Amino acid sequence: MTTAIGVVITEHIVTGKLEDQRLTGKLLRYPNDPEEKDALAAMPDSELIDIVAEQIGTLAGEPSTAAIGVAVPGIVRSGVVEESPNVPQLKGTRMAHKLAQALEHRAITAPVYLANDADAIAAGVAATRGRLDKLTRVWTIGNGIGYGRWPYVEGVWEGGHITVSLDPKEKYCGCGGTGHLEGIMGHRAMRLRFLDLEPEEVFANAKRGDLRCREFVDLWHRALAAATASFIHLAGPGRFYFTGKNVAFLELPLLRSHLETMVRMSPLQSFSLEILPPDDETALIGAAVSALRALGQ
Ligand SMILES: [Zn+2]
Repeated sequence: MTTAIGVVITEHIVTGKLEDQRLTGKLLRYPNDPEEKDALAAMPDSELIDIVAEQIGTLAGEPSTAAIGVAVPGIVRSGVVEESPNVPQLKGTRMAHKLAQALEHRAITAPVYLANDADAIAAGVAATRGRLDKLTRVWTIGNGIGYGRWPYVEGVWEGGHITVSLDPKEKYCGCGGTGHLEGIMGHRAMRLRFLDLEPEEVFANAKRGDLRCREFVDLWHRALAAATASFIHLAGPGRFYFTGKNVAFLELPLLRSHLETMVRMSPLQSFSLEILPPDDETALIGAAVSALRALGQ
């Protein structure tokens, strides 16, 4: 039996143990209270890494852990968090190395593998559906817009910052770039665009027929269709999954109707679209499975 540990870092930290790629036992969560949203916001990276190490220490044991996978939002390469707008204290942190050091103090020597959170979700979907041999792509729709893919390939893959508009007024992206997908779809970007309305109100008003809000909701779907169509034109059709805390805003029929206007070559039209309710388990399983795969287990 192979055991691995998966960790997900978002607004909170969740850790769980896998036996033969299946979750076993209870998940550990920090902070305990799910209503506490800002617990990690002001925490230095060393303290955050200590909490992760503590959770792993609680779950590790016999049989010994083969690999530890950690999912983090942002650009992650070779065990380093190069950019992480939503957990900024991790920017530049040699996370895999530091966590491995913190674990050594607890007599845990399993290798640590770091994954982008959206990539981890794609890996988790592929693993739980028995599709580890197929291309799986995931959009995470929240404060930022994440793009994840399985199998992992070297690259940046910042799909949320793909350019979907040539309008110079489209400048709400958190990265400062013009015309970006996240500048239209991201939660923060929507608040900047509608200074008088929360994103939830924009979508509710659109349903009631408010013209300005309806136009925006259409733009929101067209932007996602444009980015998805670009990936279909590059890597081919296949399955796309949509998740994240704002996935409830997504209307698949509207997205599909826009996509159909953008993808016209018949060999590319066999794509499928599916909404996944947001959870921590999928990313956690995916982080652990990615770690096992990266280590050739
Ligand atoms: Zn951007």
